[in-house]
Amino acid sequence: MKEKICRKCLLGDLDEDDFIRAMKERIAEYPADKRTEENEYRRRLEICRGCEHLGNGMCALCGCYVELRAIKRQSFCPGRGDKWKAGK
Ligand code: SF4
Repeated sequence: MKEKICRKCLLGDLDEDDFIRAMKERIAEYPADKRTEENEYRRRLEICRGCEHLGNGMCALCGCYVELRAIKRQSFCPGRGDKWKAGK
């Protein structure tokens, strides 16, 4: 069984390489039946890339890591007017 990200750790307690690796594994292993289709995933992330609320991979409005948030098909952008939806 893969190690999961510890939700109780403070950033200062985490090994950065392990944290990033665990995050990437979590994204890669997200269930296929709930995953965003690849082109839509890339489109969402391009919108995040140009967004003023993105910082260090995290959305300042919701506190999510956007790559993890965007992989969830039913997820939405918390920005005004839902930037992912508005970008379609
Ligand atoms: S507000 Fe929306 S587009 Fe901007 S970083 Fe957050 S999720 Fe991405």
